[in-house]
Amino acid sequence: MVTTFVFNVSLGALPGQFVMLWLPGVDEIPMSIALDDGKHLQVTFFAVGDMTKKLAMLKKGDLVGLRGPFGTHYEWKPGQKLALIAGGYGAAPMFFAAKQAAKDGCTLEVFVGARSKEHLLYLKEFARLPRTTVHVATDDGSQGFKGTNVSLLTNMLRERNHSVRKPFIHRIFACGPERMLAAVSDLSFNEKIPSQLSLERYMKCGFGLCGNCVVDPLGMRMCTEGPVVHNELCRKISEFGKCHRDELGKKHTF
Ligand SMILES: Cc1cc2nc3c(=O)[nH]c(=O)nc-3n(C[C@H](O)[C@H](O)[C@H](O)COP(=O)(O)OP(=O)(O)OC[C@H]3O[C@@H](n4cnc5c(N)ncnc54)[C@H](O)[C@@H]3O)c2cc1C
Repeated sequence: MVTTFVFNVSLGALPGQFVMLWLPGVDEIPMSIALDDGKHLQVTFFAVGDMTKKLAMLKKGDLVGLRGPFGTHYEWKPGQKLALIAGGYGAAPMFFAAKQAAKDGCTLEVFVGARSKEHLLYLKEFARLPRTTVHVATDDGSQGFKGTNVSLLTNMLRERNHSVRKPFIHRIFACGPERMLAAVSDLSFNEKIPSQLSLERYMKCGFGLCGNCVVDPLGMRMCTEGPVVHNELCRKISEFGKCHRDELGKKHTF
């Protein structure tokens, strides 16, 4: 189940940053910011576990703790051509980036991917943005291209004859499952298109104190030096695309 919360507050957040959502007696978890327009702040999440299922049961007017904004953000220059790769709930922060970049006169190619059409998010919202083309990919082919959103971008770059001297795309932004990010990282490296990727690690404090989200071997704290990381740095993180640590620091492979 997908839920969107709209808070009557602005935290002056930038696209790619996150907040910590707290339910007393349950848990506190990181959540990407799907919009902060100066009046409202929005988050979108899947009810997958204890905390998110309880959050999804809240009603209008119920209280939830909100801390932030935390972390790094996506960066672009006005008028650039951007490719935005969104997997699963990664569509939420990508929408925030798309909306702000569109205001800066950027041209956007948005590649939204999911397991199946029920998991595709923010399609209508992306489609309403100026100078924006939305491409859809699903693993099972239930909507759009059957395959990954990264394959879609790869095909498009080949067709449009992208080159460093005549770039079809200036920058790639991505947020989604880490295997998708690893594919974007390789594409970005091979095609020489700079990219910024959002890396998720188990976060507790959110502001660099506890060290739970430190990655090997650089010792970067993903809550402060991430989650948005430039690809050159990402490729120096040995665990990138391979494994992550849980709340106890135990390694798990993707
Ligand atoms: C920077 C960042 C941004 C995120 N943005 C979103 C978002 O916009 N929408 C969304 O649906 N989910 C988002 N997540 C993931 C979200 O925090 C987890 O899905 C959520 O914590 C699940 O919690 P749960 O208790 O319901 O499920 P659980 O069953 O407890 O956990 C399910 C999964 O979430 C991971 N997780 C649990 N707690 C944390 C934590 N404190 N830090 C990191 N991972 C955790 C677990 O490792 C597990 O893989 C984000 C995670 C990070 C790190």
